[in-house]
Amino acid sequence: MDKNQNVLIELIKEIESRILDGGKIEREEAAALWNLPYNLLMKLAAAADRIRINFLGNRFDSCSLINAKSGMCSEDCAFCAQSAKHGDASEIYDLKSTAEILSAARAAKAFGAGRFCTVTSGGALSEQDFDRLIESLRIVKSEVDIALDASLGFLNENRAAKLFGAGVTRYNHNLESSRDYYPSICSTHSYESRVGTVKLVKSNGASACCGGIIGLGETPSQRMDLAFTLADLGVDCVPINILNPRPGTPLQDTTPPEPMEIIKTIAVFRLVLPSATIKIAGGRERNLGDFQAMALRSGANGMIIGGYLTTGGRSVEDDLRMVRQAGFDISYVC
Ligand code: SF4
Repeated sequence: MDKNQNVLIELIKEIESRILDGGKIEREEAAALWNLPYNLLMKLAAAADRIRINFLGNRFDSCSLINAKSGMCSEDCAFCAQSAKHGDASEIYDLKSTAEILSAARAAKAFGAGRFCTVTSGGALSEQDFDRLIESLRIVKSEVDIALDASLGFLNENRAAKLFGAGVTRYNHNLESSRDYYPSICSTHSYESRVGTVKLVKSNGASACCGGIIGLGETPSQRMDLAFTLADLGVDCVPINILNPRPGTPLQDTTPPEPMEIIKTIAVFRLVLPSATIKIAGGRERNLGDFQAMALRSGANGMIIGGYLTTGGRSVEDDLRMVRQAGFDISYVC
């Protein structure tokens, strides 16, 4: 091993020890780790795994989604099949009924999900649909013993009060990428408007679920900017989606990251966000393939299970078996 590699191994050890003592990784250090040679990646992954164990033990966040309203979105997020601007490449339907949402929540509980997240397409629901959905969530809360999440676009104070009053405890609103790359993937709303909703969730005392999508064409530096922005915001849960190029979208021909790059991303995010839940989200099966279990031992401690918004997932039984075999406790609700 050459001298330079020994310096990098010492850097990993020093950063790990500092984080375990309550300190932080610096931005330049994250950049240095990103450029690790391939043969040192497992040392970085092992350090991230130890940091996860130190701060979170074997707690695992398993979340099941329902896409409660699909398509017809007036925004133009370049990765998304639900944008009408990309010709609505996804299924299209209006807000699901209380019975449909309740049935999905019961199914999620039955297959072992710890959390159930109701997601709707679009920047925001109409007032009428929002109020109808709040009623549905109240009923789900009273009938199913499962933690409730929601992802309904932009929030204001009034909507936040209704939502958290109905029993929702976590709100998802992803930043998707870095501040400076965001205009390359969305022109219909600003990064700051997204940050505003995340801050509103935090100010209401709810759990902020906020992450992004890797492989949108961002540079490694921009990807790390996202991690540090999330740390600055103090988010509680970080879904890492990996681009799954959808036909009909502007990113349909983009090549997603390879498994080792995904694992490196998860490990670096864990060092930047030592005590947050880090959840492997959409694109997991397609892009990690046989390396999904390795990703769980490289800093992640959660997954979305039971399929995604516009794509299916692999079987819940296979996922939960892998999670148990990786040493996690799936009975814990993060
Ligand atoms: S990510 Fe959300 S806001 Fe953006 S196009 Fe898709 S549904 Fe609309």
